[in-house]
Amino acid sequence: MSPRPQPGLMEIALYQGGASAIPGQSSVLKLSSNENPLGPPPAAIAAIREAAPRAHLYPPTDHAALRAAIAEVHGLDPARIICGVGSDEVLQFVTQAYAGPGDEIIHTEHGFSMYPILAHMAGATPVCVPEKERRVDPAAILAAVTERTRVVLVTNPGNPTGTILSEEELTALADALPAEVILVIDAAYIEFAGGAEGGLSLAASRPNVLVTRTFSKLYGLGGLRIGWGYAAAELIEVMTRIRQPFNLSVIQLAAAEAALRDRDWVARCTALNAAQRARLTGALHALGIACDESHANFVLARFGSEAEAAAADAALKAEGIIVRRVTGYGFPEALRITVGDEAGTTRVIDALTAWRRA
Ligand SMILES: *Cc1c(COP(=O)(O)O)cnc(C)c1O
Repeated sequence: MSPRPQPGLMEIALYQGGASAIPGQSSVLKLSSNENPLGPPPAAIAAIREAAPRAHLYPPTDHAALRAAIAEVHGLDPARIICGVGSDEVLQFVTQAYAGPGDEIIHTEHGFSMYPILAHMAGATPVCVPEKERRVDPAAILAAVTERTRVVLVTNPGNPTGTILSEEELTALADALPAEVILVIDAAYIEFAGGAEGGLSLAASRPNVLVTRTFSKLYGLGGLRIGWGYAAAELIEVMTRIRQPFNLSVIQLAAAEAALRDRDWVARCTALNAAQRARLTGALHALGIACDESHANFVLARFGSEAEAAAADAALKAEGIIVRRVTGYGFPEALRITVGDEAGTTRVIDALTAWRRA
């Protein structure tokens, strides 16, 4: 006899992060994890320094100041906000609190690779439904719902597709789901979608909708791990029972609040992303590389074949540029390229242009 793990755990394939180094390359441009090319906001760095001498004190358990700041900036009810160690933790709260052995968690074909992992962590069964032309297909989701379905996980805008469902489509999906099924809208990239509110009003008006947000992408704080969720007070109350009381440190809380309140920085980052995303998309089209309109801070470049994607990846690597192979997301023929700053985007365009000409 030996210790036996909970059922499902050994089915978890470990999450693969984006690579960050190329052997023998010193000037590496990392465009593999959708990080902010400008780094963390200076206001957050100052807040981290300012909080450091308080590191011996336990942090507040209720995250009151950060929740108040989120509520103020987004016009929300602070009582309906829960904060987590990245939005990944908020996703874990909902899957763990509402699904277990025998239950099903629906995710979509090209959805975030954490979703099946989270389902297995809860002991539940992940159910993968097809997308349609690289877009989440609400009809396919509804067709997959059974009496065992507890949670539906949708990435919007999608990663790695960059496509988006409209508020009308999200509302129709929420309306059509059984009332006991929770619709989770993972809005990690919504700030890049030109003002779309990403389901927050649905979460405000429905008992069974949770929107998750993160400080990892637009706010440039992926290394600090802060995210939040918005849902009905009943859902928040349940999830809070399984949240560790001190899940966020004084450093995380201070940095997130400072980043959030720096609206000039936010405007600068979204404008930079929109401009460079348009440049990159235009260049890909000019090179004959297929690419949908992206509503996020990356583009999905689709090549003629898996071999061609591998060749382009190798050509970029030779120039010190790391992008993401997305075979595990169902796109062996594609590369996901994070939108960089102006110089970084020029480097990508130049490298791909030279590769095409070779
Ligand atoms: C990056 C990302 C997140 C954010 O995860 P954090 O835990 O907040 O860093 C969530 N969902 C998707 C689809 C992502 O790509």
